[in-house]
Amino acid sequence: MANSQAVKKEVEEFMTGLHNRNPYEPEFHQAVQELVETVMPYYLDHQQYRRWRILERMTEPDRVIMFRVTWSDDDGEIRANKAWRVQFNNAIGPYKGGMRFHPSVTLSVLKFLGFEQCFKNALTGLPMGGAKGGSNFNPKGRSDVEIMRFCHSLMTELFRHIGESRDVPAGDIGVGAREIGYMFGQYKRLENNFVGVLTGKGLEFGGSLIRKEATGYGTVYFAQNMLNHIGDSVEGKDVVISGSGNVATYAVEKVLHYGGKPLTLSDSGGSIYDPDGIDEEKLEFIKDIKEVRRGRISEYTDKYSTAKYLEGKRPWGVKCDIALPCATQNELDLDAAKELVSNGVKLVAEGANMPSTLDAVHHFLGNNVLFGPAKAANAGGVACSGLEQSQNSLRISWSAEEVDQRLQDIMKGIHSKCVKFGEGGENVNYVQGANIAGFEKIAAAMTSYGVT
Ligand code: NDP
Repeated sequence: MANSQAVKKEVEEFMTGLHNRNPYEPEFHQAVQELVETVMPYYLDHQQYRRWRILERMTEPDRVIMFRVTWSDDDGEIRANKAWRVQFNNAIGPYKGGMRFHPSVTLSVLKFLGFEQCFKNALTGLPMGGAKGGSNFNPKGRSDVEIMRFCHSLMTELFRHIGESRDVPAGDIGVGAREIGYMFGQYKRLENNFVGVLTGKGLEFGGSLIRKEATGYGTVYFAQNMLNHIGDSVEGKDVVISGSGNVATYAVEKVLHYGGKPLTLSDSGGSIYDPDGIDEEKLEFIKDIKEVRRGRISEYTDKYSTAKYLEGKRPWGVKCDIALPCATQNELDLDAAKELVSNGVKLVAEGANMPSTLDAVHHFLGNNVLFGPAKAANAGGVACSGLEQSQNSLRISWSAEEVDQRLQDIMKGIHSKCVKFGEGGENVNYVQGANIAGFEKIAAAMTSYGVT
């Protein structure tokens, strides 16, 4: 086993090289640093991987496709956006990962997401490589027809780079069932081929039951596994959740199923804090605001006056047992982590991708908080997408109960892999466990192929 000084030096040298090769990509650097810190001792102990330069190869995408998306708005103005598809690694299966539409999307953001996706997909046990794509297009305030024109135009370029055995995109921030429908429709028209080339599809055209619930449900299943491992459960716990999109709303739903008490939700404008708890009826109201009317979370306090709206604030100051960050990257920094720890948080599970900064992660780990990193905790979404691909290939549809059971089994399997590589016992380091388990699977496949 390499000593800690030698490991530190190797990590520093590796990261210096990575920064030099990929300047001005802070999110990508952060995601790689988080992995390399925990994988390096394992890497140094497995000379066969080192000899094959697996880590260097794994941190370079197979390819990046960058293109222009031109469309016209409702006033007849011509608009042009940037778009990318980062096909990161297909060692263990066709590329798989979502598309994000948000003005903050850059190549760095998509490289971090694509890199994370490789390990997450490996953890599910399903044959899926890692990719991510998206555009700096801002869907907020756009009409349905504008969204359709944008999606059609984007797919007019993207279609030649994807395929059911090549690359299967899905949704992410700003890309839900509506956008997937428009993109699938255009793909089908261009290729004259009805295949499962996208996941997150509508139920009428090949979608899977439970897909929309899967990421939020899966995050709570993972948290439940973490607590069960130490003889505890979600039941009776106060839970703080950020975001109010797909992941956050279904995380609330599963917390309720398990007898926990969800206290908060948020969006980019601020947070709502309901000391009485968000129950099933209140959750239906939120789904109506966000999914149907595409409104703001602040509207919650118009209807439920005992709740507070914390304008411009994230919810981490609210006392809780469990925190589930489910909005976006770097939404939980060191100050927030300190506040959560001093308020007695026991468990943090990441529903969003990389919502915690690196120093926040270190703070949780240093204070014995059970910490479930995104690549393990939110893998339920892509796992269910994998199940959607299987159903499409078999040309059958499984019942909701069947898909949900498979999802629960997959989350349990991911938990076991984290325990195996995360030092074992009660004191599991889930960051280490998830990183090494994911790395090991991809590294073994890459080694089998020789120098490719
Ligand atoms: P949605 O678009 O459905 O919801 C995103 C939510 O996060 C909204 O409430 C949004 O608020 C909020 N948000 C977005 N950007 C910011 C920001 N910069 N600051 C504060 N709040 C913000 O996305 P999803 O729920 O699908 O995704 C949420 C996270 O989960 C992302 O990190 C995504 O990568 C990850 N994830 C999603 C999966 C899925 O299956 N959907 C699978 C695995 C991970 P507003 O409306 O104001 O923008």
